[in-house]
Amino acid sequence: MSKNSSQPFNQNVLTWFDKNGRKDLPWQSTKTPYRVWVSEIMLQQTQVKTVIPYYRNFMERFPDVLSLANAPQDEVLHLWTGLGYYARARNLQKAAQVIRDEYQGKFPEELEQVIALPGIGRSTAGAILSLACQQAHSILDGNVKRVLARYFAIDGWPGNKKVETELWRYADELTPATRTGDYTQAMMDMGATLCTRSKPKCDRCPVQLGCLAFVQGRQTELPHKKPKKQIPTKSTIMLVPMWQQQVLIYKRPQSGIWGGLWGLHEVDNERMVEKFTTNLKLGEIQEQALDPFRHTFSHFHLDIQPIILHLKQQPSHQIMENSQMWFDLAQPQSLGLAAPTKKLFSTIGASF
Ligand code: SF4
Repeated sequence: MSKNSSQPFNQNVLTWFDKNGRKDLPWQSTKTPYRVWVSEIMLQQTQVKTVIPYYRNFMERFPDVLSLANAPQDEVLHLWTGLGYYARARNLQKAAQVIRDEYQGKFPEELEQVIALPGIGRSTAGAILSLACQQAHSILDGNVKRVLARYFAIDGWPGNKKVETELWRYADELTPATRTGDYTQAMMDMGATLCTRSKPKCDRCPVQLGCLAFVQGRQTELPHKKPKKQIPTKSTIMLVPMWQQQVLIYKRPQSGIWGGLWGLHEVDNERMVEKFTTNLKLGEIQEQALDPFRHTFSHFHLDIQPIILHLKQQPSHQIMENSQMWFDLAQPQSLGLAAPTKKLFSTIGASF
C-alpha cells in the first residue's frame, strides 16, 4: 500500500472521530502518561464501562507513580479485586517501582524504555506515548486488529505471529505523523463502537468504501477465531473454617494462580479434611458442603467443592505468621481476595 492510499483512511477516521469519538472518559481529562498507562492496563480484557469506577477509585488512592510504587501490595490488589487478571496489577506496581528507582519517578518517554517496563507491550507503549505525549507510534490492540483484519480482509487468527506481523505493517503505514493521539483514540473507538465483534455497523463506518471484508460480505467471519483447543478440568476442595463470622484465610505465594492474593485453604480429597483440622488444631467441627461451582481460567477449568468447617468452640489456632488471618465477614478488611474466595464470601455473608 502506498503512503497516498493511507491518507483517505486516516483522514476519514479522524473526521469521524472529531464528530463521534469518545472525549469524556475519566482518563481523557488530564492526559499524563501515568493516567493513560493505568487506563490502558485496566482496559486490557475489560470493557470501558466496567473499568470506569475501578479507575476512579484507583486514581483517588494512587494519584501518581510514587503513591503506587510505595503502597502495600495488598492495597493495590484490593482495588483490583473484581477486574481479574491480577498479574496486570502486580506488574503495574512493579513498573511503578522501576520508574521510581530508575527514572526518578518520571514516566520514561522513549518507546524502548516504556516497552522494557513490566507488563507493557509494544501496543500499550505506543498508546501511552501517542495519547499522552503526541508521539507518532502505532498501536495494535484487539480493537485495531479487528478493524485492520476486516479492512484488508486478512485471513488467519491475529494472534498468529505471521498474521500479527502483517497487521503491524498496516498499522504502521496507516498511522499519521500528526494528530497521532487522536488517531489512536479514534481507532480504539471505531473498534469498540462501530467495527464490533458481532453486528458491525458498516452503514455508519467512515472507511466502508475501502473495506474489503464489507465488499466481500465477510465482516462477521473476520478476523478468524483462535483455533479451539480442549482445556483440562481440575478439581479442588476449598475449606472455609468458620468461627461465628470469622473465616480463616491465607496469603497465596506470589507466583502461580491468584499470586499474592488472599484465599482459602484447599485439599485434594475429603480424607484430607480431618488431617487439615488436626494440623491446624481447629478442635471439634461440623462440616457443611455448599453447592459446587466452576471457575474457568484461560488454560483450565477448576471445579470447586466448598466445605464450611463450623468450629464448635473458639479457635485455639494461633496465627504464627503474617501469611494467615481470621477474616471478618461482617466487617471485611481491605484485601485482594481470589475470585472464588470473594464469590464464596458473598454467598456465605448474605446469610448474616
Ligand atoms: S466497513 Fe464494517 S467491517 Fe469494514 S471496517 Fe467498517 S465497520 Fe468494520
